[in-house]
Amino acid sequence: MLGAQFEYMSDCIFCDILSGKLPSSLVYQDDRCTALMDIQPINPGHVLVVPNSHATYLADLDEGVGSDLFSVAQRIATALRTSGLRCEGVNLFLADGEAAGQEVFHVHLHLFPRFDGDGFGFRVSAWLLEQTGAVRVGHDSSANQGSALNRRLILRRNNQPADRSPARGIDPA
Ligand SMILES: [Zn+2]
Repeated sequence: MLGAQFEYMSDCIFCDILSGKLPSSLVYQDDRCTALMDIQPINPGHVLVVPNSHATYLADLDEGVGSDLFSVAQRIATALRTSGLRCEGVNLFLADGEAAGQEVFHVHLHLFPRFDGDGFGFRVSAWLLEQTGAVRVGHDSSANQGSALNRRLILRRNNQPADRSPARGIDPA
């Protein structure tokens, strides 16, 4: 696959893919980065964009390559929206560090295809809950729970009346 000019790290799943040791479903590849399908997609069409040379964290990544990751992600996001998959929006997500949710320690930029009601969401931090005096109130399985809670938190921040709809919230962390 890629040539020896790239730096690979042992025990890195993306390096094993990039060096041809492991199979993958390639979406795109150039001399700086590669896009592939995630093997554990959060929605159909979940793509990862990774640098061809190993970089554990953003701080280890050449800034020019970082720009390329984003440029490629932009093009793939456009492609996803016209692919025929259900894709009404796209999230770009990059976890830099374990506390940020990084699980594979080779920089990777996720593209999550999104559609209304898909149930994917981010949880609000304990810090924000503390700052706003809001509480987590049960579980909302009807999707976009993060958005619903964020709206309520913003309302409280602005000292406006809280949303009068039945309490909705998110799972305890
Ligand atoms: Zn690697």
